[in-house]
Amino acid sequence: MIDLHVHSTCSADGGASIADYARRAQELALAEVGMCEHADFDQRDRSYRYMDLARYDQEIAAARAIAPEVRLRQAVEITYQANLEAEIRAWLAVKRWDYVIASVHLVDYRDGWAMVSEQSAVEAYFSKHSQHQAYLPYFEELLRAARSGLGDVLGHFDLVKRYGTEHYGRLEPEAFADEIRAVLRAAVETGVGLEINTSGLRQAPGEPYPGLTVLRWYREMGGEIVTVGSDAHLVEHLAVGTDQALAMALAAGFTAITTFEARAPRWITIGDLGSGDTFLQPDGS
Ligand SMILES: [Zn+2]
Ligand SMILES: [Zn+2]
Repeated sequence: MIDLHVHSTCSADGGASIADYARRAQELALAEVGMCEHADFDQRDRSYRYMDLARYDQEIAAARAIAPEVRLRQAVEITYQANLEAEIRAWLAVKRWDYVIASVHLVDYRDGWAMVSEQSAVEAYFSKHSQHQAYLPYFEELLRAARSGLGDVLGHFDLVKRYGTEHYGRLEPEAFADEIRAVLRAAVETGVGLEINTSGLRQAPGEPYPGLTVLRWYREMGGEIVTVGSDAHLVEHLAVGTDQALAMALAAGFTAITTFEARAPRWITIGDLGSGDTFLQPDGS
């Protein structure tokens, strides 16, 4: 089993050390965990300049000594902002990451400030906008994120439904089909993957980010890169929901999920997970 989206106390909002996750991964017999910390580039963000790369490297090394059988990947989740692309690109270049998750966490950051993962801020935003008005800027920014080539994977594809579900009801992908398909097309063209982020299972949407429909569209359009992540900020959430994510990947037509080493994708056949994994080359051999 594998979990490629995990936050430790190296992120401003993480609640457990990398060593704690390594011990939990041992208990769960996980093959691989991606320590994917937040990196945010807007001064208004509480994570701004929080990540300390030297500390992160030290904690990873210590955790590898504790749990040598768990492959610990070194990753980062950037908050994508179109106006900060050059700065993000320069920051990413200072380290050899296994992979980068590009996420949209903000809408309206030019005129206001609405963090789609923070209930009070986004509720105020939703209360002034229709669902279409509120969600369109999110998907437009996600399209720019896909085109930017900054990330190997787009994080929690439809995070806007996290608090939007309570406000507007269920996100029906068909209502945003043009916008969502434009993002998926850009992802296929630029070789950016999607993750099945299982945190949505324990939040209001009751399904991962994204749900099955979007994942199917991505597959039908030729998408091949799908990772699985819990977005754990606490040890007890490590790998929670990954079974459902794998079942969803199969239902969408994928036979393998993806991991990365030094920003190169590798595929693991889903049936082989848990019994010693088999890596596939990009051509499927
Ligand atoms: Zn995120
Ligand atoms: Zn995250």
